[in-house]
Amino acid sequence: MECYFCKQNSREIDFKNVKLIKKFVTGLGKIRSRKASGLCLFHQRRVANAIKRARNLGLLSPTSKS
Ligand SMILES: [Zn+2]
Repeated sequence: MECYFCKQNSREIDFKNVKLIKKFVTGLGKIRSRKASGLCLFHQRRVANAIKRARNLGLLSPTSKS
């Protein structure tokens, strides 16, 4: 599987783009593993950071049950 963000040619991940980063969070609110997300190491780190920032700002619930 090809890395989603490499394919998009984007190096930065906008943490305000909740819809997008939610794709990389499991139903239990956990960050998907690289195996599951198919991201490269670089973007996996970026996504993890974006998720943490979004959570800190309350954009993303720590555990989403919806
Ligand atoms: Zn990548």
